[in-house]
Amino acid sequence: LQRLSKRREEKGPAPGAARAFRELPGQRDMEMIREAAGALGLENPFFRPHEGIAGATTRIGNREVVNYGSYNYLGLNGDPRVIAAAKAAMDRHGVSASASRMVSGERPVHGELEAAIAAHYGVEAAIAFVSGHATNVTVLGHLMGPRDLIVHDAAIHNSCAEGARLSGARRIAFAHNDWRAAERELAAARRGARRALIVIEGHYSMDGDIPDLPRFVDLARKHDAWLMVDEAHGLGVVGATGQGIHEQWGVAAQDVDIWMGTLSKTLSGCGGYIAGNADLIAWLKHSAPGFVYSVGMAPALAAASLESLRILHAEPERVARLQANAALFLRLAKAAGLDTGTSAGLAIVPVIVGSSVGAARLSQALLEGGINVQPILFPAVPDSSARLRFFLSSEHDDAQIRATVAAVAAAIGGARPAELAT
Ligand code: PMP
Repeated sequence: LQRLSKRREEKGPAPGAARAFRELPGQRDMEMIREAAGALGLENPFFRPHEGIAGATTRIGNREVVNYGSYNYLGLNGDPRVIAAAKAAMDRHGVSASASRMVSGERPVHGELEAAIAAHYGVEAAIAFVSGHATNVTVLGHLMGPRDLIVHDAAIHNSCAEGARLSGARRIAFAHNDWRAAERELAAARRGARRALIVIEGHYSMDGDIPDLPRFVDLARKHDAWLMVDEAHGLGVVGATGQGIHEQWGVAAQDVDIWMGTLSKTLSGCGGYIAGNADLIAWLKHSAPGFVYSVGMAPALAAASLESLRILHAEPERVARLQANAALFLRLAKAAGLDTGTSAGLAIVPVIVGSSVGAARLSQALLEGGINVQPILFPAVPDSSARLRFFLSSEHDDAQIRATVAAVAAAIGGARPAELAT
């Protein structure tokens, strides 16, 4: 043993192995970006530690700053009732579920959360996974196969794209929110496929815009396809009382075949869900690899999301405040001549800066001025659409929003209408 550990100490990683790690795809780009940022005097805007509870404000480097970087849409992460529910579950069950739910990891709160999610949509059943990202990867990867067809919005989240890739199905992306393009693709490709699935989001996270849901429901019916809607940013945000994209359009939730959502945003936990038909959910519970072969959700997180969902229903005024805040931000930004793309002004408002360096610079200057907003840079988006992405919450106030838009407009050199100053 001594000889072995000595050999390990002497060796370290083999030079060839270390070189191979350095040569992994993207490593050189990352290095070049780091060097260029350093030369321009830009700090790394990623992985900054926050202290305290990130809501309308957050604490970075010992300074309280106004925060537009968190998905805490309704201010429920940090709500004393949510924290109490999580603590009670932890006192009762400990921190971990300690096993897959199928084999000894099931706790009553898992079923209670799933029943509440199913009731939210008025559908037969729901299943909760430990991660939103993993939900899309495992469900799409498992549900669809090489003889199938997935037609998806070009702007769908990485997790859907990865799941679609894993499935081996034929994948066709249609131009963002263009249901006519989706129809053309389905008309051309549906016949050659065994099963077909349309994947859209209820509220797009990069642009803050929404799809024409009734059109997609019709398309799915007409072309014998399932419709899956990722509501990660829709639940608690879209629709008059935050029910989601179906409420916005007056569509029955049962008209969507597969509802997907996350627990990490409005529901202030961590995880993902699928809601819909009982046979689909039972099949996923017994066979989806990311469920069967993964630990059950931490009971405290399930309890936190269950309590958050209860509060979402009980206090729709939170949704009204969020939407009013986002609408105010969007109106002021537009009046200041900022490019907000196609944002619907429901919670997410991008300000397109037009270059990664410009967006990184602006984000840094705003942070120095007491405002935290994350830049979205190349390669996440094309350099020409590099942006700052503002996540509004129900807890921001008018003064914060007015000051923020004024600061952005002043930094970009846009107009500064009198309204902004008030
Ligand atoms: N879907 C969408 C549309 C998302 O934006 C995200 C993450 N922000 C996910 C799925 C993954 O969810 P989570 O971060 O909870 O894993």
